[in-house]
Amino acid sequence: MNLVPPLAPGVAGLGTESAFEVLARARAMERQGTDVVHLEIGEPDFPTPAHVVSAAEAAMRAGETGYCPAPGIPELRAAAAEYLARPRGLAIEPEEVLVATGAKPFLFFTTLACAAAGDEVLYPDPGFPIYRSAISWAQGSPVPVPLRARTGFAIDPDELASLIGPRTRLVILNSPNNPTGAVMSGGELAAVAQVLEGTDAWILADEVYAKILYDAPAPSLASVPALRERIVLLDSCSKTFAMTGWRCGFAAVPEPLREPLTRFFINCTSCVPPFVQRGAVAALTGPMDDVRAMVETFRTRRDTVVQGLNALPGVTCRAPQGAFYAFPDVSDTGFTGAQLAERLLVEQGVAVLAGSAFGEHADEHLRISYAAALPRIEAGLQRFGELLA
Ligand code: PMP
Repeated sequence: MNLVPPLAPGVAGLGTESAFEVLARARAMERQGTDVVHLEIGEPDFPTPAHVVSAAEAAMRAGETGYCPAPGIPELRAAAAEYLARPRGLAIEPEEVLVATGAKPFLFFTTLACAAAGDEVLYPDPGFPIYRSAISWAQGSPVPVPLRARTGFAIDPDELASLIGPRTRLVILNSPNNPTGAVMSGGELAAVAQVLEGTDAWILADEVYAKILYDAPAPSLASVPALRERIVLLDSCSKTFAMTGWRCGFAAVPEPLREPLTRFFINCTSCVPPFVQRGAVAALTGPMDDVRAMVETFRTRRDTVVQGLNALPGVTCRAPQGAFYAFPDVSDTGFTGAQLAERLLVEQGVAVLAGSAFGEHADEHLRISYAAALPRIEAGLQRFGELLA
């Protein structure tokens, strides 16, 4: 008898991040001997700063290899409180901060903690795909907030207001934004804040790219006093310190959510490894030279990518102001983003993501990560040009 037991019905609907799928396909092509240009994955191509590695190594050697407090070690909660508070002009107490295995658990569990079946959760579209996945898993109603290229991917405050209703429990916002590279301006932020002030929804400000900025500072929604009591201010070591594999995120969390989120973490991971947290303390409190150098490198690449894309027939690309993604409009090539992404991978060995991986409002786009060495970016642009020719 070959009986396959059934799975829970919700499993089929759980979303994913297509970056990991495209990466797996690209790696399979590489094993067959194809030279693939990787412009798909959202991960700095830099090593973690040496002083961070040393701190973690020392902690491991000192025996910090067991369980530790679920909300985070006190030193990291204090370091993160200061790190989050200072640039935003806030006062954040160490007790307000929780630590988790990356920013992702905060996204998933904040959604589960705030929204029940039928509750509405607003999220940016295009946006990081895990937002929608978490909302669906909570059986909430996902309400996309459209971000359009013609307005620089800014939120239209009137549209935002029209999308908020009596069942809105959580509003997720992300600046600097993945995948558009847009950064909320001061004016946009004030207008959005004014709309949110008139609601009783929780707010999740995903600011994991807060330090990866090219043109102007990024104002933070957490700096709006009227929102402070219901905003989860989320950051992570992943992007800023090239620590994606370490799995260490942190957030300033309003009091009513702190204990529930901690219980979620206890249920699924117990804690972030203490030696990882020691590395994170070194990252947040140590020299920022490596971070600055990385951002300058990203800036050079950004300029190359944007210029190269705009030189291609049918492609237009705004200059991203933050993060490390270009999000060109490819509609005048005669292809959808999904068609182009597929052909680029299969015919040219260039791995990029279709805009449709980020929501309903983005299939005219591609997401191109410029977390790759300049010669590889140039090779990718050249191959893209060959495909369009
Ligand atoms: N938020 C956004 C907007 C992201 O782009 C990512 C990673 N791609 C995350 C959260 C998750 O980051 P982490 O590695 O800290 O879980």
